[in-house]
Amino acid sequence: MKKEILLIEPNYRNKYPPLGLMKISAYHKLKGDNVTFYKGCSKKLQAKKWDRIYVATLFSFYWKQTIKTINFYKRCEIKTKNFFVGGILATTMFDELYKETGIKPVKGLLDKPNDLGKKDEIIIDKLTPDYDILETIDYVYPTNNSYISYMTRGCCNHCKFCAVPYLEPAYIDYIQLKDQIKDINNRYGEKRDLLLMDNNVLASKQFDKIIDEILELGFEKGAKYRSPNLFEIYYNRLSKHYSDIAAENKIKSLLNEFSQTRLKKKVVLGEFQSYISEFGLLDDDNKKYGKRFLTKLHSAYPHLNPIYEKYRNKAPRNRFIDFNQGIDARLLTQAKMKRLSEINIKPLRIAFDNIKDKDIYKEKIRLAAEFSIKELSNYVLYNFIDTPKDLYDRLKINIDLNEELNLRIFSFPMKYIPITDKDRTYIGEHWNRKYLRTIQAILNVTHGAVMPRQDFFEKAFGKSFNEFEKLLLMPEDYIIYRAYSKEKCLTDEWWNRIESIRSKCNGTFDMALEVIYSNDFKNIPTKEIDVSVHDLLEHYKNRVKLSDFNNWKEMRK
Ligand code: SF4
Repeated sequence: MKKEILLIEPNYRNKYPPLGLMKISAYHKLKGDNVTFYKGCSKKLQAKKWDRIYVATLFSFYWKQTIKTINFYKRCEIKTKNFFVGGILATTMFDELYKETGIKPVKGLLDKPNDLGKKDEIIIDKLTPDYDILETIDYVYPTNNSYISYMTRGCCNHCKFCAVPYLEPAYIDYIQLKDQIKDINNRYGEKRDLLLMDNNVLASKQFDKIIDEILELGFEKGAKYRSPNLFEIYYNRLSKHYSDIAAENKIKSLLNEFSQTRLKKKVVLGEFQSYISEFGLLDDDNKKYGKRFLTKLHSAYPHLNPIYEKYRNKAPRNRFIDFNQGIDARLLTQAKMKRLSEINIKPLRIAFDNIKDKDIYKEKIRLAAEFSIKELSNYVLYNFIDTPKDLYDRLKINIDLNEELNLRIFSFPMKYIPITDKDRTYIGEHWNRKYLRTIQAILNVTHGAVMPRQDFFEKAFGKSFNEFEKLLLMPEDYIIYRAYSKEKCLTDEWWNRIESIRSKCNGTFDMALEVIYSNDFKNIPTKEIDVSVHDLLEHYKNRVKLSDFNNWKEMRK
């Protein structure tokens, strides 16, 4: 009998779609079940009767939201044994989650035939993910035009800050990909990029075979992509099953998108739009899915598709492969770099987590340059055992390498949070709240990345560590509205106060630092604090008025 299955992802903002749920969906659809996917809490879904509910979990710092979501759906009329919670948090915080929700989580991967109490031999982790579920929600994952997969699992290392050894304890050095890609192409149309989430691909003894397969899949150096006619693909799908909600949604969004973007370019597509209205394809009453929509589409399709095909964007575009979890510099040999240079890798991500690894890191970047890999990126862990100077030096090394080798290395500073912390408030031994806030404020301006150009870097992080140290202490407003604060002499005023207090050498500066480090300027104790410190701390209390800043900006135009 057809079962009703509910798949839930808590409503956090994430870049990658929930691969685990996509595979569970594929499994249930294989069994002929009805699958509903939703992101967040829906009263309508809560009120329905489900045979099984699956909730995905991600990082531990989403604890509150995750628990809230689980408890929300626990109110559905469902037996605990049919309620499943899996994913990263469910694995790393198994006991606590069990205690908090009464649901026994599913640990690790779904890589065994008997997972989830099934009575068949199907291994869920090996199934082609069901991309259709992504078409049934409003949330758009930024990576939705990519194949997302793995060609290895696990990692041979056990870094203290990493959840991989818990999630994927066994290293698997090759997983065939091409059949899955073929499947995806047939069902959803060819995708542009290849995103491999492998945690340590270089540890694989079958690395050459992996590269050969990536080449075979069309990701050679300089590879191009021409988008397929998705309207035709989804029309053919819907023609076979009028109840294919994902196909119907996709068609509607393609029609909408096509008429809007083409019109923006002033191409006369009135004819296309008039067919849409003539056949009532995007009318509100069509919100009801099914036969009626397909009947209208059958009549409109012979008129619409020739126009769609003629005007849709068929220009070849670059397509890239990205090992998005980064590769291990220690395992990167000349032979492996040569192989990496054969595929259209962008960016090449090499982790640079510890300043002690600087020599090996530089050596590998030079090796990349030798093989003409020019677009690089790296995660730079901070707030762990590092100091702010370590962070600055690592970022600066990248800038210097860019200059020396004519590369574009984007650094992505990543704040360390222990894998079982329930929020993001952790402060590393050599850090404090103000320093962390400064890094965040700088990164907010640059959207999380450190730009590869020296002038940008120096403007954002300072020309030297001394300048960076000054930034670490600088009031947040003066960091965000840097040019304005400088021109209005606010920054100089603030710094003069710092210098003056520091020169007293009587412990007053330490007192000031204590408050600054806490980054709490609302509850400053009035009595114990020297008046000069009070004057200094005034600078930390939202000194820049947005209206003044906007006026100033207007005047400069
Ligand atoms: S090498 Fe990377 S994936 Fe492996 S344990 Fe260390 S951080 Fe995790």
